[in-house]
Amino acid sequence: MEPTPCALLEHEPLAPHLFWRIGGPADLYAEPRTEAELLHCLRLARDRRLPVLALGGGSNLLVADGGFRGLAIAYQNQEEDQAIRGDRMRVRIGAGALLAPTGRRLSRLGWAGLEWAEGIPGTLGGAVAGNAGAYGGDIASALHAVEVLADAERFERWNLADCAFGYRKSRFGAIGATSAFISAVTFLLRAEDPERLAARMQAIGQERKAKTPAGLSCGSVFKNPEGASAGRLIEQAGLKGLEEGPAQVSPLHANYIVNRGGATADQVRRLIARIRAAVEKECGIRLEPEVRMIGFDPPQS
Ligand SMILES: Cc1cc2nc3c(=O)[nH]c(=O)nc-3n(C[C@H](O)[C@H](O)[C@H](O)COP(=O)(O)OP(=O)(O)OC[C@H]3O[C@@H](n4cnc5c(N)ncnc54)[C@H](O)[C@@H]3O)c2cc1C
Repeated sequence: MEPTPCALLEHEPLAPHLFWRIGGPADLYAEPRTEAELLHCLRLARDRRLPVLALGGGSNLLVADGGFRGLAIAYQNQEEDQAIRGDRMRVRIGAGALLAPTGRRLSRLGWAGLEWAEGIPGTLGGAVAGNAGAYGGDIASALHAVEVLADAERFERWNLADCAFGYRKSRFGAIGATSAFISAVTFLLRAEDPERLAARMQAIGQERKAKTPAGLSCGSVFKNPEGASAGRLIEQAGLKGLEEGPAQVSPLHANYIVNRGGATADQVRRLIARIRAAVEKECGIRLEPEVRMIGFDPPQS
């Protein structure tokens, strides 16, 4: 495939692209729409030796106040191909499509496998990178294959074993978007009564509404440690309502940090560090962030 040029923006503020509405600019920013444009962007980054940040919906990212020194790529492709055989459907969708609306649309057509995703923001690419999940499901369980642009060279098809999925993790987190940028995903879905699917998704939606704090957040900040709930540990350590400026541990759900307006990335980073230290002291457990932290010096994890 020949690369097709794609417009690049300089010093693009990233905060408007991120759910916390926090974070400085990217040196360069692009929104490729096709595989050929994506190839152009990644080749350019490779040739100029620029780090690449794959930006999905920005619902699981904390970018430093100083921004990102490299090329942020928000891949937009949402093209879809379906192949139905009996009561199974294989559907291939561009990684820029949104997760929850995709699940909702397919379930209305009677295809089951993504109902658990109701209410989870972000794109298919971001969901695969973090193996997003909820209510007993996760994206790995619905996947058949993932297509990646590897080393800015070639499009490859990876099966589930290649992706090394685990609880809220995958190989993509470890190797980064420069080595493997997710370009498309193929789900294997099964036929089910659309009304039953709709009822399940409505129940999930209602439960989420009741439990999810309003306001600017990135969902759960920490992964649940084995056999425990990060939110309950944070609550147990007495940290609900803890503040660093306008960044606050949600009084409704202790695993959420809410930006009440004007919080900085450094305030959120400090709050995360205080929570980890306090939970370790009180409960003897070191919490691992689920949120990806980008552009910090030294790197945060
Ligand atoms: C209110 C709220 C509720 C949430 N509830 C849940 C929940 O129940 N379960 C859950 O798992 N998560 C939840 N989240 C977190 C978040 O929505 C998910 O992690 C989501 O899948 C992230 O997708 P995204 O497109 O926004 O990714 P981003 O935040 O943009 O990126 C996340 C990571 O994926 C990488 N990435 C993105 N696209 C690509 C690509 N094409 N190729 C390679 N790497 C890529 C990024 O570089 C980054 O490392 C919630 C968030 C919010 C705000």
